[in-house]
Amino acid sequence: MVQSVIKTVIARYRTILENQKEWIKPVFKKPQYDLVWNRDYSLSESYFSVNTLEGHVKLPYFSQGMEKYFDHAVYKFGTAKLVKKHGKYFLHIPVTFEVDESNMNDICNVVGIDRGVNFIAVTYDSKHKTRFFNGKKIKQTRAKYAKLRKELQMRGTPSSRRRLKAIGQRENRWMQDVNHQVSKALVESYPEHTLFVLEDLSGVRNATERVRTRDRYVSVSWAFYDLEQKLTYKAKQKRCSVIKVDPRYTSQTCPACGHTEKLNRNKKLHRFRCKTCGYQSNDDRIGAMNLYRMGINYLVDSQVPDTVTAEHDSAVKGAVNHPAM
Ligand SMILES: [Zn+2]
Repeated sequence: MVQSVIKTVIARYRTILENQKEWIKPVFKKPQYDLVWNRDYSLSESYFSVNTLEGHVKLPYFSQGMEKYFDHAVYKFGTAKLVKKHGKYFLHIPVTFEVDESNMNDICNVVGIDRGVNFIAVTYDSKHKTRFFNGKKIKQTRAKYAKLRKELQMRGTPSSRRRLKAIGQRENRWMQDVNHQVSKALVESYPEHTLFVLEDLSGVRNATERVRTRDRYVSVSWAFYDLEQKLTYKAKQKRCSVIKVDPRYTSQTCPACGHTEKLNRNKKLHRFRCKTCGYQSNDDRIGAMNLYRMGINYLVDSQVPDTVTAEHDSAVKGAVNHPAM
């Protein structure tokens, strides 16, 4: 335990030296103890054993829901962290396991995911089905937080600043929980070997453009990024893949005839109506459909050339450019 403390302190100082140009004195507020698996702690289905200054301690614990992790041929426990928070002790145990890389040639389903504010996600898949994940409640909760933040900012007292910080952290935890649920629902809705297609929202300008509401774009793009991380992580466990594509024109291109024009979309009414062929739909659905099509194109392009003849290849491409509605 003493050893662990020394190591933690050294590691913290080293990180500061490597990352910061200026020297900052590290603060150790929360008690924390790193436990190496099989040296400092071990875990069976009924007991948690840990080495302490008073010797070896064996404690019963509640292991419901953890059963599968005791298959040590598959899952490996790592260095755990014992943390004291709100007067209680928590043990964070990292678990690692290997999954087969998903192969593009095995992909059997493509899902375009459009992220937004009114709908946190709209999906369009290989069965030509659309799913809407409503974002209205999220928008309301976020507005509530924004209002509270503003009030506290205006007060400007030390105690209001403390509350402001706490509220920010609470909002982050809440948003992460929402993203956890949405990404889980997305991955669980589709079979193994699904390719999820997202817009690459790394350009900030694009993020502001996409979310023209009173919400600050900064927090929205953070939430999008968080959803992306969670989806990628969960998709991998199910042999699915996630790709990001160029988001330009995904909301202006007609999925029926390919005509691209800004006026195809009425942002205010959330309607899309093609100026050429008259195809109509909800504008977020159009985004998902175009992402789906880009996913199909990506698959066609990444296919091993030997397996398809040139003729067949162009036929496939033609078919995906004009999906059956
Ligand atoms: Zn059209």
